[in-house]
Amino acid sequence: MIRKFLGKVFSGRLFRPAASKVIPFKVHRIARDRISRCAITTCETLQKSGHTAYVVGGAVRDLMLGGVPKDYDVATSARPEQVRALFRRSRIIGRRFRLVHVMCGNETIEVSTFRGSADGTDGDSGDQSTDEHGRILRDNVFGSLEDDARRRDFTINALFYDPVREEVLDYHNGVADLKARRLRMIGEPELRFREDPVRMLRAARFAAALNFDIEPRTRKPIRAMADLLRNVPPSRLFDEMMKFLLSGHAAEGVRRLRKEGLHHGLLPLLDVILEQPLGERFVMLALDNTDKRVNDGKPVSPGFLFAALLWHEVLAAWKQAESRGLNTMPALFHAMDQIGQMQAEKLAIPRRFGGDMKEIWALQPRFSNRTGRRPYHLLEHMRFRAAFDFLLLRCESGEIDAEIGQWWEKFQHADEVARAGMLLTEGPAGARKRRHRPRSKKKPATAKAETGAA
Ligand code: ATP
Ligand code: MG
Repeated sequence: MIRKFLGKVFSGRLFRPAASKVIPFKVHRIARDRISRCAITTCETLQKSGHTAYVVGGAVRDLMLGGVPKDYDVATSARPEQVRALFRRSRIIGRRFRLVHVMCGNETIEVSTFRGSADGTDGDSGDQSTDEHGRILRDNVFGSLEDDARRRDFTINALFYDPVREEVLDYHNGVADLKARRLRMIGEPELRFREDPVRMLRAARFAAALNFDIEPRTRKPIRAMADLLRNVPPSRLFDEMMKFLLSGHAAEGVRRLRKEGLHHGLLPLLDVILEQPLGERFVMLALDNTDKRVNDGKPVSPGFLFAALLWHEVLAAWKQAESRGLNTMPALFHAMDQIGQMQAEKLAIPRRFGGDMKEIWALQPRFSNRTGRRPYHLLEHMRFRAAFDFLLLRCESGEIDAEIGQWWEKFQHADEVARAGMLLTEGPAGARKRRHRPRSKKKPATAKAETGAA
């Protein structure tokens, strides 16, 4: 009882901020022409119908920092059904958190109704429930603008921009924190992390992407609470992992996590991998590559990324299966299944990415074979490019000899005559014999040595 009361006091539920600070244009400097037309129209339409509506969250934060938001969120007093009725191209989505997607052209604005809390101090009685650790399972209790500001995660994410009045409302000193480059949790951090452990991952992501410090009171409970991430459904964890990995600052994010001693338990994949001798170098190279692609506006294949993150676990399992007497390919497939199953329990990698990932792995031993027609067949494979990029990462990390990557680089760009000259006719012991084997027994004996799995 007392704990619950103190929780409410510290989370700010019993002493509400009296009023917000109103930040005028000359301070916030957000010019209307920097904002998505669709977000402005959405707010205007809602306001004309008598509701309040603001651009919120990351968009306001990024605009105030001089950046370009990647997407827009709008918060409103209108209920999901009311929003839906106002926009022809819109639909209600979500169960845990019901909101409306409003579409203009190929842009989607996420419109959410102001949230309150279900403890009777604010909001109307709606649908909010928690598990035994205090994690919020559903968050569909509606409330006032002030309630909504309090339920957001970090102060810099709780700024409300009104594009009609061109004002920013700041209830939790988010502007001061933006200036100080400080990430600060609204309310009592421990309670807020308990409500939603994913906020710990969000803290690491924002700190790295914005180059902000996590304020000590916010950082303090994280290490002890990291375990709570285990109770988060794998699909939600996957979504947050994707945001982390595709933020353009994933390598820095991991460095931050390590520096703060938070790399255990927070990112399920990284725990094991970073501890393996070559694993860390490989993962960091893959993340640096990904960040570069994201920042150059190039597409990133999640399948490739997960193939890289899990590779050293697969390698270890592969070696083990071979040492138990399995041949190269069956051992690799065994390892792939084993690691796939282990990860599925923690992280729900969607099937389409899982398929790409397995294909990239399964093609790796085929790079070892540089005799006869096989290199030509491999070049024609649909996933050759991805598998080759993966091979280069393996070379660069020192897992395998750089020569094999150079050979394939040259082979794919050479003309027919040069290619024929590059083929290894006299391979290591066994190569000639293998040429005369029936097609059904074509496992290359050299694969083990060159893939480093021996
Ligand atoms: P970005 O879109 O750049 O990743 P963002 O801050 O906009 O960052 P979103 O996930 O789009 O993040 O969420 C929009 C806003 O909703 C956040 O700024 C924050 O105010 C609120 N929010 C999102 N997730 C949570 C959460 N787990 N707990 C509390 N508030 C949240
Ligand atoms: Mg956002």
